[in-house]
Amino acid sequence: MSELLLEARHVTRRFPTNDGRELVACNDVNLKLYRGKTLGLVGESGCGKSTFMRFLVWLDRPTEGEIIYKGRDITKLQGRELHEMRQHIQMVFQDPATSFNPKMKIRDIVCEPLLNYGRIKRSEKNARARELLQMVELPGDFADRYPHNMSGGQRQRVAIARALALEPEIIVMDEATSALDVSVQETVIELITKLQREKNITIGFICHNLGFIQSFSHQIAVMYLGNIVEVMPGDKLSEVCCHPYSRALLNAVFDTRMDFSKKIEPIKGEPPSPLDVPAGCPFRDRCDRCMPVCREVWPTLKEIEPGHEVACHLFGKGEDA
Ligand code: SF4
Repeated sequence: MSELLLEARHVTRRFPTNDGRELVACNDVNLKLYRGKTLGLVGESGCGKSTFMRFLVWLDRPTEGEIIYKGRDITKLQGRELHEMRQHIQMVFQDPATSFNPKMKIRDIVCEPLLNYGRIKRSEKNARARELLQMVELPGDFADRYPHNMSGGQRQRVAIARALALEPEIIVMDEATSALDVSVQETVIELITKLQREKNITIGFICHNLGFIQSFSHQIAVMYLGNIVEVMPGDKLSEVCCHPYSRALLNAVFDTRMDFSKKIEPIKGEPPSPLDVPAGCPFRDRCDRCMPVCREVWPTLKEIEPGHEVACHLFGKGEDA
């Protein structure tokens, strides 16, 4: 892996409830982002993956832990320092139709960050907007359009252009292709990977589809009920993936190019309420391989080979089992 760019250490987010209980959306999350590489964060809806990525762009702050970037804990930044740091980490949201101001022209949308940071003069806006649109393979004339005059795929390209306008080192993409048609998803991913190669950008990509994310992620982290249960290299996912939850996610993938003689196996049951997580392994009530120890002892994340960590009593036995 390349140079370590950002490291989350023991990041936890607790939300108090009205009845005095506590919901733990992220529990002791440790993750690393490497320069020019993509970290795919996968899990079912509500598992805490978006909560974690929101810390990277200051939409929320963790209750405990730190996120180190450029030698600083970015969760503690305020005022001027925070404003300066925001340039380096940008975000692309799931649905640009709702994240753009419908009354703004595309020219103003893509150039707004540049004006906010004084990187261009107002007179340079038109030329810069055209350059940014061409970078994401859209005609420069689209600068005169409004968001509602574009397709979903075109709007998402504009969102990528806007996120790249300040030349950030890191981009966080929250289900950035989920709202698009399957054919459009592929072209947007091709564009993202091309721009990543050209600009050496680091990407944190949130997705619920393990099969899809493995095609372009260098590193994949699987999250369940706020816990990271497996971290593995993206290019070896199908060979090394071993946590029962990750395997279940993989077996539940539907793809039009898949082998239809193979049965799709949905994950059985529902995750427990995050307000009532059982003792031991959080996946225990849905796991076919559950053992007595799983009902009592929390499985910690252990490295079982370089770049591959698993939180399960079936692997790295000795400490927990
Ligand atoms: Fe299944 Fe036990 Fe592993 Fe949890 S720790 S995933 S219950 S085998």
